Amino acid sequence: MDLVDELVQKRDLPDEGLRELLSSSDDVMAAKLFKRARETAAEHFGREIYIRALIEWSNSCRNDCYYCGIRRSNHAIERYILSEEEILQCCGQAHEDGIRTFVLQGGENPVKAGELVGIVALIKKKYPDSAVTLSLGELPAELYAALREAGADRYLLRHETATPSHYAKLHPKEMSLENRLECLHELRKLGFQTGMGMMVGSPFQTPDHLIADLRLIRSFRPEMVGLGPFVPQKDTPFGTYPAGSADLTLRLYAIIRLMLPEAGIPATTALSSIIPNGHIRGIESGANVIMPNYTPLSRGKQYVLYDNKSRQDFHKIKTELNAAGYVVNPSRGDFKTNQYHV
Ligand code: SF4
Repeated sequence: MDLVDELVQKRDLPDEGLRELLSSSDDVMAAKLFKRARETAAEHFGREIYIRALIEWSNSCRNDCYYCGIRRSNHAIERYILSEEEILQCCGQAHEDGIRTFVLQGGENPVKAGELVGIVALIKKKYPDSAVTLSLGELPAELYAALREAGADRYLLRHETATPSHYAKLHPKEMSLENRLECLHELRKLGFQTGMGMMVGSPFQTPDHLIADLRLIRSFRPEMVGLGPFVPQKDTPFGTYPAGSADLTLRLYAIIRLMLPEAGIPATTALSSIIPNGHIRGIESGANVIMPNYTPLSRGKQYVLYDNKSRQDFHKIKTELNAAGYVVNPSRGDFKTNQYHV
């Protein structure tokens, strides 16, 4: 049995096997990895790709992560926070397009995030058929609880790297991996469908770091896994570092699909920002979610997590997916079973 078959059968591999799948120059093995990942996604989702409307709520952040264009020390951008009216307009437009998940994403700002409690409740009242996903960073447990109580269904909090010494090279000392993982456990305890993930090719990353990420994901078993390549932003301390590899990102999509067959795995914008047709390539490597952008255009231009960020348009994505033989599924698309938590 080769490594790909072993991963399909056991949903896991020893570290050496993972290392081989991540770095091997054997094209036949890589092609088989992608094929098995596609087949596994098809077994669970058919040819359907879930669509989530991305609304970039705010680029105001209290943190100073060295890789991020909206870090608090970047004075080259104009800060914004979408008003309640703007958020509802974005949701309305997405809802008209048939999309039944709204993703509110923004920098870490506990004071302003408090105002989202009422807004989430309003969205759920106005669109009871829709899910709300939040991605707002590390917040106090009481605020997570209030957002959940208001009706938020899912929460994405990327761990970025599962190795504490690597985490310390990417973040200022007031931030810790320990705290991030505690937040993830808290979110799960509150009943959120929870997402985690990492940057691929971030500065100082080694294959061992990625293997540790896979181990963490495999043991936490999140309902969603969000990962994309590191892409430099010129006004950050890592502005001159090279971008992560698209091929490595695609292999990780495939490995994670085979480890967690039912997880929601978005083909992320960062991937589309470094290779043409990145979202289709991501789907063909096992991803099953795409997040078109519904942020008002003028605001979205200030949401510069990294340079050359692409903007995914729902109607364009739909056409491209259809041409590639897929169909969009704009329904809520909740995680199907809780098999991971038995
Ligand atoms: S990565 Fe997140 S927490 Fe860090 S500076 Fe950027 S928005 Fe803030």
